[in-house]
Amino acid sequence: MTDVGKLVVISGPSGAGKTSVCRALKQHPAVEFSVSATTRARREGERDGVDYHFLTREDFQRRLSENQFLEWASYNGNLYGTPRWPMDAALARGLTFLVEIEVKGTRQLRERGTPGLYVFIAPPSIDELRRRLLHRGSNDAVEIEQRVRIAEHELAAAREHIGGQPLYDHIIENRDLDETIRRVKELLWP
Ligand code: 5GP
Repeated sequence: MTDVGKLVVISGPSGAGKTSVCRALKQHPAVEFSVSATTRARREGERDGVDYHFLTREDFQRRLSENQFLEWASYNGNLYGTPRWPMDAALARGLTFLVEIEVKGTRQLRERGTPGLYVFIAPPSIDELRRRLLHRGSNDAVEIEQRVRIAEHELAAAREHIGGQPLYDHIIENRDLDETIRRVKELLWP
């Protein structure tokens, strides 16, 4: 029998450190990272087809109506979605398929009973999150407060249950990045 791979969902507020965690996991040869589609504008340094598939809203809507997304969500005015077929292909090859998505998309996967390991990376506190976003310097003050508000909402949502099951199997507080990466790796490869 061929080895069947595993879906790993990583979520967390902007600034909690999830992108750094995912970057570390991507180094592993058995991990394939999902490239999401999005309607948001490309940021400096981002590459189309590598960081995201950058789509127009019309193109995104067309693909959505064709059922091309495993899950999708609207976040801060933009649409984001996980293309369906790369996951099927990766799991059939026995790989770990890693998706970095927000909580509404995670809820869709859980509601459908999609098997996988669901991990939420949380900041130690809202003040610390604000400090990290300020330090990062890539958002203005208004945007930082918007992201903090979304984070507060996401932190509450992460503790929800769906059909008696927690939305996330693990909520990891990221105090120290190396330690967080070590803990996530331990969950993936016990
Ligand atoms: P950003 O614009 O900062 O790259 O991403 C904004 C949020 O959208 C992040 O929380 C990120 O994890 C989430 N996200 C990225 N791709 C997807 C996706 O395909 N589906 C969902 N549901 N969320 C996504």
